[in-house]
Order: sequence, then C-alpha cells, then structure tokens
Amino acid sequence: MLIDMHTHTDFSPDAKSSPEEMCARAAELGLEKYAVTDHCDCNYWLPAAEMFPGGIPEGFKDEEMLGVREYAPASIRAIAALKERYPFLLCGIELGQLLQNAKAAEQILAMPELDFVIGSLHMNAGCADFYWLDYRKMDITEIHRLLGAYFEEILEMCRQGGFDVLGHLTYPLRYIVGDCGISLDMSRYFEVIREIFRTLAEGGIGIEINTSGLRQRYGKMLPGVEYVKLYRKCGGEILTVGSDAHCAADLAAGIPEGLELARECGFKYTAYFERRRAEFIKI
Ligand SMILES: [Zn+2]
Ligand SMILES: [Zn+2]
Repeated sequence: MLIDMHTHTDFSPDAKSSPEEMCARAAELGLEKYAVTDHCDCNYWLPAAEMFPGGIPEGFKDEEMLGVREYAPASIRAIAALKERYPFLLCGIELGQLLQNAKAAEQILAMPELDFVIGSLHMNAGCADFYWLDYRKMDITEIHRLLGAYFEEILEMCRQGGFDVLGHLTYPLRYIVGDCGISLDMSRYFEVIREIFRTLAEGGIGIEINTSGLRQRYGKMLPGVEYVKLYRKCGGEILTVGSDAHCAADLAAGIPEGLELARECGFKYTAYFERRRAEFIKI
C-alpha cells in the first residue's frame, strides 16, 4: 500500500506542480492515501523587521513572503475542494516555526478542513532558514550553537503540541552534512533528542520518515535509522512516511525505502491521518 504523507503543490513558493498535476500523478501511481502539506511558515506572517530583530539576512526577499497569509489557507481550501474528485486525497499543512508566531498557528489549526498537520522547524527564531546559511563560513562552535538551539526549540514545540507528527527531525543535517560535507558529533544531542521522543510519545504525537534526503546529496532519510530506533525505544508508535515532493516527478519517491526503514526499526504499522485522527496500516 503506497501512501505519501508529505508533499507540496505550487501553493508553496518553492514547489512547481499544481494540485491538479500532483493529484493526476498520485492517481497514476495508484497511491492509496496522499496528503498535500503545503508550507505555512508561521513566522513569515510577521513583517521582516519583527522576524529578524538582529537585521534582515542577505538575500531575504520580504516581498515574496507577503503572500504567505493567503497561500496557506488558500491551499487548504483548494485541496479540500479537490477531495471529492480524488478520494485518496488528504488535506494537510506543514506548519513551520509554530512557536515563533502562535497566533498564525492558531488561525491555521482552527481550519476545519484539515486532516493532518506536520510540525516543522526550518529556522531558529531570528535566523534565516537552515537552507540559506553558509556553514563553510562558520566555525564548528557556531554550527553547534545553532543546532543546540534548533533541538531545544523542537523540544519546546513538542511540549506545546498541536500538530500530528514532527517533520524531518534532522533537517539542518541535509545542508550542514549533505551540502557542506561537514562531519558532526551528534552524540551531544542524544539527551535532548531522547527527551523530544519521550515528549512526543507521551503526547500521542508521531514522527515522520522524510525520504527527501535520499534524492539529495545527504543521501539519508530524515531522520536516519538510529533516531527512528530510539523513537521506538522511547515508546513512539505513530510514524508517517513522506517524500516531501516539491514536483509531480518526485511524488512517492523513496516511500518503499522509508517503509523498509520503519520495518527495520521494529515498526509493524505506518499511519495516515484523516480529520486529525491517526489510522494505522500494517506494513
Ligand atoms: Zn520542511
Ligand atoms: Zn515539506
């Protein structure tokens, strides 16, 4: 059974295919369940000066972000309207930085159309997206300071909850390790990551296996096998698998490998969400 629980349409500023194109491809692939989870980076609902009190990062285009108040709710409404034609379709959102603008998160979470919410952190408070940072210009202490703050903010996100699964836990590694080839001693984050997993398991929130790293230089899933195993050890039961496709060609890419990883870590079920409730499917 092929399910993809993390994908974007061109309602997201960094994605290329329309909802129609994505759904047509999902039908062609025979997906049983398919969730559109366009971006809603909550902090972008703030003016740039408020977002970056320490100065607006170079290359940041505030005018491109102004549409964010419209495109996240517009995606949710458009996908919900398409569900009649595509019964496998689930209406989700990737809610980024939900602690950095709680009001925006609250407004989105109140939308009754939502089936599924991924909670992600793409940037530390007051910083640019990990995607934009140049780690080659930083010393290792600075990189660890950023990563430490990243996992602490994730832990706080998990304590506050409000979302269904935690998105791509090891997101910064895609750029630091994958793109810049910097090797990191991750053992110093073991305790905070274990606390994140315990908090999620207690709160009935899941994690995702995000297969996008397989298509990128990083070459690994987000998070990797050691963390999925630890999550299970901490009592985690809810696990979704998603390609994070930003175009129709990447839809469902790596899903069989993601399910294989789940099995390897001892999981017997994968989940999808409908009306914000987890449904489990044997793998
Ligand atoms: Zn993301
Ligand atoms: Zn995504």
